[in-house]
Amino acid sequence: MKLIDPIVEFHSELQAIRRNIHAHPELCYEEQRTADVVAQNLEAWKIPVLRGMGVTGVVGVIKRGTSSRAVGLRADMDALPMQEFNTFAHASQHDGKMHACGHDGHTAMLLGAAHYLAQHGTFDGTVYVIFQPAEEGGAGAKKMIEDGLFERCPMEAVYGMHNWPGAPVGTFGVTPGPMMASSNEFEVIVRGKGSHAAQPHKSVDPIMVAVQIAQSWQTIVSRNKSPIEAGVLSITQIHAGSATNVIPDDAKLVGTVRTFTLEVLDLMEQRMRDIATHTAAAFGAEVEFRFKRNYPPLINHAAQTAFAVEVLQQIVGEPNVNAQVEPTMGSEDFAFMLQAKPGCYVFIGNGGGEHRDMGHGLGPCNLHNPSYDFNDDLLPIGATYWVRLAEAALAADAG
Ligand SMILES: [Zn+2]
Ligand SMILES: [Zn+2]
Repeated sequence: MKLIDPIVEFHSELQAIRRNIHAHPELCYEEQRTADVVAQNLEAWKIPVLRGMGVTGVVGVIKRGTSSRAVGLRADMDALPMQEFNTFAHASQHDGKMHACGHDGHTAMLLGAAHYLAQHGTFDGTVYVIFQPAEEGGAGAKKMIEDGLFERCPMEAVYGMHNWPGAPVGTFGVTPGPMMASSNEFEVIVRGKGSHAAQPHKSVDPIMVAVQIAQSWQTIVSRNKSPIEAGVLSITQIHAGSATNVIPDDAKLVGTVRTFTLEVLDLMEQRMRDIATHTAAAFGAEVEFRFKRNYPPLINHAAQTAFAVEVLQQIVGEPNVNAQVEPTMGSEDFAFMLQAKPGCYVFIGNGGGEHRDMGHGLGPCNLHNPSYDFNDDLLPIGATYWVRLAEAALAADAG
C-alpha cells in the first residue's frame, strides 16, 4: 500500500481527533462542538474556513497556484440517536447518542487530508474540504447546497467516501451508475366505517381493504416495473383496531420504498396511489395517501468513477479495488451533491470487526450497530486517497 509518509506520521493526532469526536456525538444540525473541532484544526493549519453553511456545515478552502480549477471532498459529521454498548475509553459520553456510522472517522480522514494538502499538497487550484451536517435523515447535503455551497465554492467535481464494515482494510468498492438507493416513506390511512364485529354488514371494514392494498402493492414489484430494474416496497407497520369485537373506523399502512432510478420511483409511487385509491373505492372506503421522498438514488458519474478507480489502484493495487461493487439499497444524502455536480462516492473497507471491543452486541460491527466503532487503521488510507485524488484532479500540468 502506497501511503503518504507525513500522513502516516500524523496518525496518532488523527486518531486522537477521531476519538474525541466519537466521545462527543452530536445529532442532525446540532454538530456545534464537532464543527468547532473541525474549524479550529483547519484554522490552526492556516486553512481559511467558511462556517454555518447548512446550519453547522464547515468548508475549508485550500488554494495553491493560479488555476481557477477546483474540486470538493466531502465528509459528514453527525451521529445517531442510539445507545452505545462499547466500554472503551472513547465511548460516547452522551446517553442516547452514538457515532455508529463512522462519521467521526470520515471527518478525521478529511482533516488528515486537509492538514497534508495545506502543507505539502502538489496541485494548482482550490480544494474545498466539505464537512456536512445531518446525513442521518436530515438531508444536510441538500441544506448546504441550498445555502449556496456550489455558488460560494464553485467546483468542477465533488467526491464522497463511506466506511464499509465487512470489507477488509486496504480495499475499496465503487461502481459507476446507481450505487445506493432512493429512500422514500409512505403512510396510507384507509377510512372505512366501524361497527360491532358481529355485524360486519353494517361496516366498511378498513382492515380488509388495507390487506387487499398490501397484497396488491407487491404486484407493482413483480408485474409493473421491469424485472431488470431494482425496487423494494416494504410495509413495516400495519395499525388498526383496539378490541376483539369492534371493527375499527380506519387502518394505517406505513413503510418504505427503495429504487435506483427516479423513473422506477415515479412508477411505484403512481401505482401505489392508484391501487390504494381504487381498491378503497371498490369497497366503499377512502384513503389518505402520503408519500415522502427523502433521499434520491446515489448515482456515480462514469468519468469521475473511472478517475477515482485509477487513483485508488495506485494506492492499494488493482486487486484491492472492486470497481463494480454490488449496489446497496441503503441510502445516502451525498446523492444530492451528485445530482448537482459530477463526482463519485466510494466505500472504504472498515475490516471485520477485530478492531473493536468484543463480547457485547450481536453480529460483526455493522453500521448502526450499538457495538460499532470506526477502524482507526483507515485514517491514513482514506486521507491518502483524498490527497491523491485532489492532486490528480488538479494536477499542475493538466493545463
Ligand atoms: Zn453514514
Ligand atoms: Zn448511517
